[in-house]
Amino acid sequence: MIRFEGDVEYILSKAVPEDFKSLFTKKLIDEINSKVLLRGVSKKEEGARVVSYEFLDNLIRLKIRSGSKVRLHHAALRIKNYLAPILGKEFRIGIRDIILRNANIILEGSLHVSTSLPIVKEVRIEDKITIVSLTDLKESELKRPIIDRLLKLLDYKEKRAKWGGKVEHWRLIKKSVGKEPKFRDDPNIILEKIGWIKRYATGQWLYTPPITHLLRKFESLFIEVVLKPLGFSEAIFPKMNPLEIGLKTGHLRGTPHQMFFASQPISYNLEDFDEWIDYVSVLNKADPDHLRNFIKPPTYFICFAQCEPFYWFFGGEIIDRKELPIMWFDRSGPSFRWESGGLRGLERVVEFHRIEIVWLGEPEQVIEIRNKLLERYEYFMDRVLDIEWRWAWVTPFYLVHAGEIEEEKEGEIDINRPGTIDFEAWLPYKGSREDPHAWLEIGNISIHGSKYSEPFRIKHQLKDKIIWTGCSGFGLQRWFLAFLAQKGFDPDNWPAEVRRRMTRPPRSVRMVTYPKSKDGEKLLEEIELLLSKLPSE
Ligand code: ATP
Ligand code: ZN
Ligand code: MG
Repeated sequence: MIRFEGDVEYILSKAVPEDFKSLFTKKLIDEINSKVLLRGVSKKEEGARVVSYEFLDNLIRLKIRSGSKVRLHHAALRIKNYLAPILGKEFRIGIRDIILRNANIILEGSLHVSTSLPIVKEVRIEDKITIVSLTDLKESELKRPIIDRLLKLLDYKEKRAKWGGKVEHWRLIKKSVGKEPKFRDDPNIILEKIGWIKRYATGQWLYTPPITHLLRKFESLFIEVVLKPLGFSEAIFPKMNPLEIGLKTGHLRGTPHQMFFASQPISYNLEDFDEWIDYVSVLNKADPDHLRNFIKPPTYFICFAQCEPFYWFFGGEIIDRKELPIMWFDRSGPSFRWESGGLRGLERVVEFHRIEIVWLGEPEQVIEIRNKLLERYEYFMDRVLDIEWRWAWVTPFYLVHAGEIEEEKEGEIDINRPGTIDFEAWLPYKGSREDPHAWLEIGNISIHGSKYSEPFRIKHQLKDKIIWTGCSGFGLQRWFLAFLAQKGFDPDNWPAEVRRRMTRPPRSVRMVTYPKSKDGEKLLEEIELLLSKLPSE
């Protein structure tokens, strides 16, 4: 747990009178330690304590140690507020300034903290403890939010380190019965081999008409079976977000290593690009290092979580209770994530398509909608797609840190509160169902509590009521892949509901040089023959 130590100096308008010294020793120091610095704390170690003091000319110097609740700088200010009236009324002395010297923030674990931060002097790691030393700070600086933000950051780092590098904790809550797969091969390999998808760039594919047809059918199947009956309406969200949005959602802090950023051009005048045009024309090179000179620093991040604009839209507004709950979904464009390694076929891509389902309302409404969605999801997975699935209650770090949920304890899981459920499907081509690596997260559903409604200031009409939000992501590529992985390409092996709604895909692309192999051509013919069992549009 975070601790502090440091020296606080109160600079007085006159030398410290002898009478004050004895009053301080006899009475004030006790008051400070037993009342002032413990106000509002339940455990003593969370408060602060003056461990020694001395008087030097016009200066009172206190050595203070403090816990997580009454932080050092707050303790310094509390003591000032306590002493100022006594010094003023009884001794006609004012407190001119406060200086915090030799302040150390002590954290558990070895943490990386940047010494480039303005108020950080030094960072030492000793024996599984990190000590952050601050520069000397004056009263005006103690009152600025920067020190609170630094403490919040350190608290975040300490908790994240304790979290053990895991992004989330995983506990099984429900699973389907075992279902004998109708297929064992890897659809990723097949789809590429038959030329239905072609790699465009790292983690990006071009989806040709036949697979696009099936993906779109799949998407509408989900909308018709799950979203429409519950009353969700479609909206179109922007896919490029101003950076400030990521500050409020927390993504700029939590996932900067996975985000794509976008820049505006340096100007709207083509003349300003003369040098660039010459360069490109003569060298015929698309050189990003050179391009850097003709674009502004990035001011956007590209769609990452997809629900960001939803919170923005209601942000700063007061919501009429009669309009609650609000239930929308967006499927208007792709999301982008840098996934570094681990990219494979449709399993993990850089550009993916998702139906993002979002809702907001009073806490009970948000929970109820999540539960209704769960019911429909289960029906969809179990009856409509008839796949082998499982659900896990995961505790994402971002919700723990936002203070929306406690870290998971052993025992009963109460899912009617903020938290996330991951939906996973078995991919038989990756191994047996006992192998954890043979399961893929295909979607998830979250109750955020006030994690977003608070920073975006989404207000309920009634003062004593609050707004919660929830979201759920249906990643099209992953659901489709999971279905193909368990059911294959033969419609005779598809469950009735899927078969009923699917129609024959348009002709596949063939060129002299495409698909790339004889094998691929043969396989394509076989698959086309299977799919010709489907009725045409
Ligand atoms: P993973 O743990 O597999 O990386 P995630 O926890 O990052 O997934 P979320 O941030 O919860 O995923 O995103 C919600 C949904 O978006 C996922 O369930 C999945 O359907 C889809 N999704 C996320 N990342 C990718 C990706 N790189 N490729 C394809 N789909 C993705
Ligand atoms: Zn979301
Ligand atoms: Mg991920």
